[in-house]
Amino acid sequence: MWRQYIRKVEPYTPGEQPDSDNVIKLNTNENPYPPCEGVKRVLSTFDTDTLRKYPDPNVKALRTAIADYYNLSMENVFVGVGSDDVIAMCYMTFFNSPKPILFPDITYSFYDVWADEFRVPYKTKALDDEYRIVASDYAEDNGGIIIPNPNAPTGIAEGKDFFTEILNNNPDSIVIIDEAYVDFGAESVIDLIGEYENLIVVRTFSKSRSLAGSRIGFALGNAEAVRALHDVKYSFNSYTMDRITIELGVEAIKDDEYFRECVSKIICTKKQTQDSLRNLGFEVFESAANFLLVKPKGISAEELYTQLKNRGIFVRYFNKPRLSDYLRITIGTDEEMDKLTEALQSILEAVQ
Ligand SMILES: *Cc1c(COP(=O)(O)O)cnc(C)c1O
Repeated sequence: MWRQYIRKVEPYTPGEQPDSDNVIKLNTNENPYPPCEGVKRVLSTFDTDTLRKYPDPNVKALRTAIADYYNLSMENVFVGVGSDDVIAMCYMTFFNSPKPILFPDITYSFYDVWADEFRVPYKTKALDDEYRIVASDYAEDNGGIIIPNPNAPTGIAEGKDFFTEILNNNPDSIVIIDEAYVDFGAESVIDLIGEYENLIVVRTFSKSRSLAGSRIGFALGNAEAVRALHDVKYSFNSYTMDRITIELGVEAIKDDEYFRECVSKIICTKKQTQDSLRNLGFEVFESAANFLLVKPKGISAEELYTQLKNRGIFVRYFNKPRLSDYLRITIGTDEEMDKLTEALQSILEAVQ
Protein backbone atom coordinates (compact mmCIF):
# COMPACT_ATOMS: atom_id res chain seq x y z
CA MET A 1 0.00 0.00 0.00
CA TRP A 2 2.86 2.41 0.72
CA ARG A 3 3.38 2.91 -3.01
CA GLN A 4 0.11 4.71 -3.42
CA TYR A 5 1.22 7.33 -0.90
CA ILE A 6 4.46 8.20 -2.65
CA ARG A 7 4.59 11.80 -3.86
CA LYS A 8 4.60 11.58 -7.61
CA VAL A 9 6.73 14.19 -9.32
CA GLU A 10 8.42 14.53 -12.69
CA PRO A 11 11.93 15.67 -11.72
CA TYR A 12 13.91 18.39 -13.45
CA THR A 13 16.59 17.03 -15.77
CA PRO A 14 19.83 18.98 -15.43
CA GLY A 15 22.44 19.07 -18.20
CA GLU A 16 24.86 16.14 -18.26
CA GLN A 17 27.91 16.30 -15.99
CA PRO A 18 30.34 13.96 -17.77
CA ASP A 19 32.88 12.16 -15.56
CA SER A 20 35.78 12.96 -17.84
CA ASP A 21 37.61 16.29 -17.57
CA ASN A 22 38.67 15.74 -21.12
CA VAL A 23 35.59 17.33 -22.68
CA ILE A 24 34.56 20.83 -23.65
CA LYS A 25 31.58 21.50 -21.48
CA LEU A 26 29.23 24.06 -22.99
CA ASN A 27 25.96 22.56 -21.73
CA THR A 28 25.16 23.97 -18.28
CA ASN A 29 26.13 27.65 -18.47
CA GLU A 30 28.96 27.34 -15.99
CA ASN A 31 31.67 30.00 -15.96
CA PRO A 32 34.83 28.97 -17.85
CA TYR A 33 37.05 30.96 -15.46
CA PRO A 34 38.03 29.87 -11.94
CA PRO A 35 36.67 31.59 -8.82
CA CYS A 36 38.61 34.60 -7.49
CA GLU A 37 41.85 34.40 -5.45
CA GLY A 38 40.00 35.03 -2.17
CA VAL A 39 38.08 31.79 -2.67
CA LYS A 40 41.33 29.84 -3.04
CA ARG A 41 42.76 31.57 0.03
CA VAL A 42 39.75 30.61 2.20
CA LEU A 43 40.08 26.98 1.16
CA SER A 44 43.81 26.80 1.81
CA THR A 45 43.66 28.49 5.21
CA PHE A 46 40.30 27.28 6.54
CA ASP A 47 40.37 26.34 10.23
CA THR A 48 38.79 22.88 10.18
CA ASP A 49 38.33 22.91 13.98
CA THR A 50 35.43 25.30 13.45
CA LEU A 51 33.52 22.57 11.59
CA ARG A 52 32.64 21.06 14.98
CA LYS A 53 30.11 23.82 15.36
CA TYR A 54 26.97 24.56 13.39
CA PRO A 55 27.19 27.46 10.97
CA ASP A 56 25.45 30.78 11.64
CA PRO A 57 21.75 30.12 10.88
CA ASN A 58 21.32 33.82 10.01
CA VAL A 59 24.27 33.71 7.57
CA LYS A 60 25.00 37.24 8.69
CA ALA A 61 28.46 37.54 7.12
CA LEU A 62 27.30 36.66 3.61
CA ARG A 63 23.99 38.52 3.81
CA THR A 64 25.83 41.65 4.96
CA ALA A 65 28.42 41.36 2.17
CA ILE A 66 25.64 40.98 -0.44
CA ALA A 67 23.63 43.84 1.07
CA ASP A 68 26.70 46.14 1.01
CA TYR A 69 27.37 45.29 -2.62
CA TYR A 70 23.84 46.23 -3.70
CA ASN A 71 23.38 49.17 -1.28
CA LEU A 72 20.65 47.38 0.63
CA SER A 73 20.46 46.19 4.22
CA MET A 74 20.83 42.65 5.55
CA GLU A 75 17.06 42.55 6.16
CA ASN A 76 16.58 42.67 2.37
CA VAL A 77 18.72 39.58 1.71
CA PHE A 78 17.79 35.89 1.84
CA VAL A 79 20.48 33.31 0.97
CA GLY A 80 20.18 29.66 0.04
CA VAL A 81 21.82 26.60 -1.48
CA GLY A 82 21.90 27.87 -5.06
CA SER A 83 19.08 29.92 -6.51
CA ASP A 84 17.22 26.66 -7.14
CA ASP A 85 16.83 26.33 -3.37
CA VAL A 86 15.96 30.02 -3.05
CA ILE A 87 13.25 29.80 -5.74
CA ALA A 88 11.83 26.63 -4.17
CA MET A 89 11.57 28.54 -0.84
CA CYS A 90 9.87 31.41 -2.70
CA TYR A 91 7.26 29.03 -4.13
CA MET A 92 6.53 27.64 -0.67
CA THR A 93 6.40 31.08 0.91
CA PHE A 94 4.55 33.18 -1.66
CA PHE A 95 2.65 30.94 -4.05
CA ASN A 96 -0.24 29.78 -1.86
CA SER A 97 -3.15 31.37 -3.68
CA PRO A 98 -5.76 29.12 -5.33
CA LYS A 99 -5.23 31.25 -8.47
CA PRO A 100 -2.61 30.02 -10.95
CA ILE A 101 0.87 31.48 -11.03
CA LEU A 102 2.08 32.67 -14.44
CA PHE A 103 5.35 32.14 -16.30
CA PRO A 104 6.42 31.90 -19.96
CA ASP A 105 5.87 28.63 -21.86
CA ILE A 106 9.50 28.61 -22.98
CA THR A 107 11.64 29.34 -19.93
CA TYR A 108 13.74 27.77 -17.18
CA SER A 109 12.34 24.24 -17.10
CA PHE A 110 12.41 24.03 -13.31
CA TYR A 111 9.45 26.42 -12.89
CA ASP A 112 6.76 23.86 -13.72
CA VAL A 113 8.60 21.15 -11.76
CA TRP A 114 8.39 23.21 -8.55
CA ALA A 115 4.76 24.06 -9.29
CA ASP A 116 3.97 20.34 -9.48
CA GLU A 117 6.11 19.53 -6.46
CA PHE A 118 4.40 22.13 -4.26
CA ARG A 119 0.93 21.62 -5.81
CA VAL A 120 0.84 25.19 -7.06
CA PRO A 121 -1.60 25.73 -9.94
CA TYR A 122 0.06 27.41 -12.93
CA LYS A 123 -0.58 28.74 -16.40
CA THR A 124 2.07 29.36 -19.04
CA LYS A 125 2.06 32.30 -21.46
CA ALA A 126 3.35 31.75 -24.98
CA LEU A 127 6.35 33.69 -26.24
CA ASP A 128 5.57 35.71 -29.37
CA ASP A 129 6.84 34.88 -32.87
CA GLU A 130 10.21 36.43 -32.05
CA TYR A 131 10.46 34.36 -28.84
CA ARG A 132 9.87 37.47 -26.72
CA ILE A 133 7.81 37.55 -23.52
CA VAL A 134 4.63 39.64 -23.88
CA ALA A 135 4.17 41.92 -20.84
CA SER A 136 0.41 42.36 -21.32
CA ASP A 137 -0.08 38.57 -20.96
CA TYR A 138 0.74 39.01 -17.28
CA ALA A 139 -2.12 41.42 -16.55
CA GLU A 140 -4.75 38.74 -15.84
CA ASP A 141 -5.71 37.62 -12.35
CA ASN A 142 -2.98 35.36 -10.91
CA GLY A 143 -1.45 33.89 -7.77
CA GLY A 144 2.07 35.10 -8.56
CA ILE A 145 4.51 35.57 -11.42
CA ILE A 146 8.01 34.27 -12.11
CA ILE A 147 10.05 35.44 -15.11
CA PRO A 148 13.77 35.15 -15.78
CA ASN A 149 15.65 38.14 -17.18
CA PRO A 150 17.37 37.42 -19.51
CA ASN A 151 15.00 34.56 -20.34
CA ALA A 152 16.42 31.05 -20.63
CA PRO A 153 17.14 29.37 -22.96
CA THR A 154 16.61 32.24 -25.43
CA GLY A 155 19.03 34.67 -23.75
CA ILE A 156 16.68 37.52 -24.70
CA ALA A 157 16.48 40.31 -22.10
CA GLU A 158 13.71 42.82 -21.48
CA GLY A 159 14.22 46.33 -20.13
CA LYS A 160 13.08 47.99 -16.93
CA ASP A 161 9.90 49.46 -18.48
CA PHE A 162 8.76 45.96 -19.33
CA PHE A 163 9.01 44.92 -15.67
CA THR A 164 7.48 48.11 -14.26
CA GLU A 165 4.47 47.43 -16.52
CA ILE A 166 4.15 43.92 -15.04
CA LEU A 167 4.66 45.20 -11.48
CA ASN A 168 2.11 48.00 -11.94
CA ASN A 169 -0.43 45.48 -13.24
CA ASN A 170 0.12 43.15 -10.28
CA PRO A 171 0.11 44.98 -6.94
CA ASP A 172 -1.60 41.96 -5.33
CA SER A 173 0.89 39.29 -6.44
CA ILE A 174 4.48 38.51 -5.68
CA VAL A 175 6.53 39.04 -8.85
CA ILE A 176 9.80 37.09 -8.90
CA ILE A 177 12.44 38.14 -11.43
CA ASP A 178 15.09 35.45 -11.79
CA GLU A 179 18.25 37.34 -12.72
CA ALA A 180 20.56 34.31 -13.00
CA TYR A 181 22.21 35.75 -16.13
CA VAL A 182 21.66 39.49 -15.71
CA ASP A 183 25.38 40.23 -15.14
CA PHE A 184 26.17 39.25 -18.73
CA GLY A 185 24.51 42.27 -20.26
CA ALA A 186 20.93 42.91 -19.08
CA GLU A 187 19.44 45.62 -16.90
CA SER A 188 18.67 44.60 -13.30
CA VAL A 189 15.46 45.56 -11.50
CA ILE A 190 17.14 45.54 -8.07
CA ASP A 191 16.70 49.32 -7.73
CA LEU A 192 12.92 48.88 -7.99
CA ILE A 193 12.83 46.94 -4.69
CA GLY A 194 12.29 50.12 -2.64
CA GLU A 195 9.38 51.07 -4.86
CA TYR A 196 7.55 47.72 -5.18
CA GLU A 197 6.98 45.72 -2.00
CA ASN A 198 5.83 42.73 -4.10
CA LEU A 199 9.10 42.44 -6.08
CA ILE A 200 11.58 39.64 -5.36
CA VAL A 201 14.83 39.50 -7.33
CA VAL A 202 16.66 36.16 -7.36
CA ARG A 203 20.38 35.89 -8.13
CA THR A 204 23.03 33.17 -8.17
CA PHE A 205 26.79 32.82 -7.72
CA SER A 206 26.74 29.85 -10.13
CA LYS A 207 27.16 31.68 -13.40
CA SER A 208 28.80 35.11 -13.23
CA ARG A 209 30.76 34.36 -10.03
CA SER A 210 32.17 30.97 -11.05
CA LEU A 211 30.79 29.10 -8.02
CA ALA A 212 28.27 26.59 -9.39
CA GLY A 213 30.05 23.91 -7.34
CA SER A 214 29.48 25.75 -4.06
CA ARG A 215 25.72 26.28 -4.44
CA ILE A 216 25.05 29.89 -3.43
CA GLY A 217 21.95 31.81 -4.43
CA PHE A 218 20.06 34.72 -2.93
CA ALA A 219 16.85 36.70 -3.09
CA LEU A 220 16.50 40.44 -2.58
CA GLY A 221 13.23 42.01 -1.55
CA ASN A 222 11.50 44.17 1.04
CA ALA A 223 12.19 43.26 4.67
CA GLU A 224 8.71 41.85 5.35
CA ALA A 225 8.86 39.48 2.37
CA VAL A 226 12.38 38.37 3.32
CA ARG A 227 11.21 37.72 6.89
CA ALA A 228 8.46 35.49 5.49
CA LEU A 229 11.06 33.56 3.49
CA HIS A 230 13.14 33.07 6.64
CA ASP A 231 10.12 31.75 8.57
CA VAL A 232 9.63 29.07 5.93
CA LYS A 233 13.34 28.26 5.73
CA TYR A 234 13.68 27.88 9.52
CA SER A 235 10.70 25.53 9.45
CA PHE A 236 12.55 23.36 6.99
CA ASN A 237 16.28 23.38 7.75
CA SER A 238 17.98 26.08 9.82
CA TYR A 239 21.48 25.39 8.56
CA THR A 240 21.32 25.24 4.80
CA MET A 241 24.66 26.92 4.18
CA ASP A 242 27.84 25.46 5.59
CA ARG A 243 30.67 27.43 7.19
CA ILE A 244 33.07 27.04 4.27
CA THR A 245 30.56 28.08 1.61
CA ILE A 246 29.57 31.18 3.58
CA GLU A 247 33.20 32.35 3.59
CA LEU A 248 33.65 31.54 -0.09
CA GLY A 249 30.60 33.61 -0.93
CA VAL A 250 31.89 36.61 1.03
CA GLU A 251 35.18 36.52 -0.88
CA ALA A 252 33.46 36.12 -4.25
CA ILE A 253 31.22 39.13 -3.76
CA LYS A 254 34.08 41.28 -2.41
CA ASP A 255 36.36 40.85 -5.44
CA ASP A 256 34.51 43.13 -7.80
CA GLU A 257 37.49 43.75 -10.07
CA TYR A 258 37.99 40.07 -10.89
CA PHE A 259 34.23 39.62 -11.31
CA ARG A 260 34.05 42.45 -13.85
CA GLU A 261 37.08 41.15 -15.70
CA CYS A 262 35.59 37.64 -16.11
CA VAL A 263 32.20 38.97 -17.16
CA SER A 264 33.66 41.29 -19.79
CA LYS A 265 35.83 38.51 -21.21
CA ILE A 266 32.74 36.30 -21.57
CA ILE A 267 30.76 39.11 -23.23
CA CYS A 268 33.62 39.64 -25.68
CA THR A 269 33.90 35.92 -26.50
CA LYS A 270 30.13 35.80 -26.94
CA LYS A 271 30.23 38.51 -29.63
CA GLN A 272 33.01 36.68 -31.50
CA THR A 273 31.19 33.34 -31.26
CA GLN A 274 27.99 34.96 -32.48
CA ASP A 275 29.82 36.25 -35.56
CA SER A 276 31.53 32.98 -36.37
CA LEU A 277 28.29 31.00 -35.98
CA ARG A 278 26.45 33.43 -38.25
CA ASN A 279 29.25 33.02 -40.79
CA LEU A 280 28.58 29.29 -40.69
CA GLY A 281 24.95 29.99 -41.60
CA PHE A 282 23.49 29.57 -38.10
CA GLU A 283 20.57 31.64 -36.93
CA VAL A 284 21.65 33.17 -33.59
CA PHE A 285 19.41 34.95 -31.09
CA GLU A 286 20.69 38.24 -29.65
CA SER A 287 21.70 37.11 -26.16
CA ALA A 288 22.23 39.10 -22.96
CA ALA A 289 23.30 35.89 -21.16
CA ASN A 290 26.42 33.68 -21.16
CA PHE A 291 24.95 31.34 -23.75
CA LEU A 292 23.61 31.47 -27.29
CA LEU A 293 20.48 29.83 -28.63
CA VAL A 294 21.26 28.87 -32.21
CA LYS A 295 19.57 27.16 -35.15
CA PRO A 296 21.98 25.23 -37.37
CA LYS A 297 21.71 25.15 -41.16
CA GLY A 298 22.03 21.99 -43.24
CA ILE A 299 21.81 19.61 -40.27
CA SER A 300 19.21 19.02 -37.58
CA ALA A 301 19.90 20.33 -34.10
CA GLU A 302 19.59 16.87 -32.61
CA GLU A 303 22.06 15.36 -35.09
CA LEU A 304 24.51 18.19 -34.53
CA TYR A 305 24.21 17.75 -30.75
CA THR A 306 25.10 14.06 -31.14
CA GLN A 307 27.99 14.69 -33.49
CA LEU A 308 29.45 17.35 -31.20
CA LYS A 309 29.10 15.01 -28.24
CA ASN A 310 30.98 12.30 -30.16
CA ARG A 311 33.79 14.82 -30.52
CA GLY A 312 33.78 15.57 -26.79
CA ILE A 313 31.88 18.85 -27.04
CA PHE A 314 28.77 18.99 -24.86
CA VAL A 315 26.01 21.47 -25.70
CA ARG A 316 22.35 21.47 -24.64
CA TYR A 317 19.54 20.10 -26.78
CA PHE A 318 15.88 20.42 -25.73
CA ASN A 319 13.47 18.02 -27.35
CA LYS A 320 10.52 20.35 -26.80
CA PRO A 321 8.04 22.30 -28.94
CA ARG A 322 9.60 25.40 -30.57
CA LEU A 323 13.05 24.46 -29.23
CA SER A 324 13.82 21.19 -31.00
CA ASP A 325 15.44 23.00 -33.96
CA TYR A 326 17.86 24.82 -31.65
CA LEU A 327 20.94 24.19 -29.54
CA ARG A 328 21.92 26.16 -26.47
CA ILE A 329 25.66 26.76 -26.34
CA THR A 330 27.37 28.11 -23.23
CA ILE A 331 30.14 30.66 -23.79
CA GLY A 332 33.46 29.15 -22.75
CA THR A 333 37.00 30.48 -23.17
CA ASP A 334 38.19 31.79 -26.55
CA GLU A 335 40.12 28.54 -27.07
CA GLU A 336 37.05 26.41 -26.34
CA MET A 337 34.93 28.43 -28.74
CA ASP A 338 37.61 28.14 -31.44
CA LYS A 339 37.53 24.38 -31.02
CA LEU A 340 33.75 24.45 -31.24
CA THR A 341 33.88 26.48 -34.46
CA GLU A 342 36.44 24.09 -35.97
CA ALA A 343 34.31 21.08 -35.06
CA LEU A 344 31.21 22.72 -36.52
CA GLN A 345 33.05 23.52 -39.74
CA SER A 346 34.18 19.96 -40.17
CA ILE A 347 30.76 18.48 -39.30
CA LEU A 348 29.01 20.82 -41.74
CA GLU A 349 31.52 20.08 -44.52
CA ALA A 350 30.94 16.36 -44.09
CA VAL A 351 27.15 16.69 -44.52
CA GLN A 352 27.28 18.98 -47.54
C1 LIG B 1 21.18 28.25 -13.51
C2 LIG B 1 19.85 28.84 -13.24
C3 LIG B 1 19.31 28.87 -11.95
C4 LIG B 1 19.87 28.08 -10.80
O1 LIG B 1 21.11 28.31 -10.48
P1 LIG B 1 21.72 27.74 -9.13
O2 LIG B 1 22.96 27.05 -9.56
O3 LIG B 1 20.75 26.84 -8.44
O4 LIG B 1 21.99 28.97 -8.35
C5 LIG B 1 18.13 29.54 -11.73
N1 LIG B 1 17.47 30.13 -12.74
C6 LIG B 1 17.92 30.09 -14.00
C7 LIG B 1 17.14 30.75 -15.07
C8 LIG B 1 19.12 29.43 -14.29
O5 LIG B 1 19.53 29.33 -15.54
